[in-house]
Amino acid sequence: MATYRGSFSVSSSGETDIIDITGRVQSVLRESGLASGILTAFVSGSTAGITTIEYESGLVSDLKAAYERIAPRDGTYEHNLRWGDGNGYAHVRASLTGQDVSVPFLGGKLSLGTWQQIILVDFDNRPRRREIVVHAVGD
Ligand code: ZN
Repeated sequence: MATYRGSFSVSSSGETDIIDITGRVQSVLRESGLASGILTAFVSGSTAGITTIEYESGLVSDLKAAYERIAPRDGTYEHNLRWGDGNGYAHVRASLTGQDVSVPFLGGKLSLGTWQQIILVDFDNRPRRREIVVHAVGD
């Protein structure tokens, strides 16, 4: 059993920017040299999330629309009243999404569905550079 830690950074435009990071995660797995096990991909920060989706433009739009219904950008947020940074909606969306995924891998390949990609969603109200940490455990 071995562990491997890699990372990469992603530039986002913010405002619920949805970025397919599957290839970057797979690259870290390749670097690790591990064949079978499990990895986690984590974004540090309280206004971004990581989840999976079928990455096609229709669903990307649908997910953005759902976030807008769940935590509207122009809603009233105590966070905005306290801090004045106007990104209360971004924090709420990030908390509901979560900041990591765990994916098993076999034969050096992520065990994702054919139509399943790993996405970073950046909810903040300004462009950001995000650090993604990938930690793999296996053989
Ligand atoms: Zn804030």
